[in-house]
Amino acid sequence: MEFEAYGRKVEVIHGDITKVEADAIVNAANEGLRGGGGVDGAIHRAGGGAIMAECRKIGRCPTGSAVITTAGRLPARYVIHAVGPIWRGGNSGEPELLRSAYETSLRLAKEHGLKSIAFPSISTGAYGFPLEKACPIAIKAVLDHLAGKTSLERVIFVLFTKDDYETYVNQARDLLSGRAS
Ligand code: ADP
Repeated sequence: MEFEAYGRKVEVIHGDITKVEADAIVNAANEGLRGGGGVDGAIHRAGGGAIMAECRKIGRCPTGSAVITTAGRLPARYVIHAVGPIWRGGNSGEPELLRSAYETSLRLAKEHGLKSIAFPSISTGAYGFPLEKACPIAIKAVLDHLAGKTSLERVIFVLFTKDDYETYVNQARDLLSGRAS
């Protein structure tokens, strides 16, 4: 499903982010940038050792922030490793930290002059952030970024399950009412 916001494209797709051709794909990383399961494992497996080599040089990334590396063998040019919060019930700053992980990723993309970026649903897998709460935070952070001056022309949300995809489409429709195409 494709939407338009501030003259830019916002796409919601059901699929595997390691297959997406974009200037950058975002990884749902951990503070140690060590790789792991879920989307993180899939990105390192598909992209090869060059990504981990750069992660090791960088070292760590605090929750709510993000760092950028090569994308190795992936069809993207860069991987932005964003660290979302672990869900601890919702009163430990999780919404703000999640928004900050998206904002930092978008800022890095802009600083590198990138035109397209693809996001997975950060924190909603192993980190336990409820998807229905995370989804509007993700979409609003993107819309607020697109409302300002940015190099980005296309933002893609890549959802791995059909249920998550449908939640995102409905939420994007609500937040962009009248602008769906
Ligand atoms: P976190 O630790 O931040 O919760 P996870 O990787 O466990 O990260 O889950 C984040 C989201 O990524 C989940 O919704 C999961 O379904 C999704 N996911 C897993 N593999 C992929 C993939 N290859 N492409 C896109 N999304 C994926």
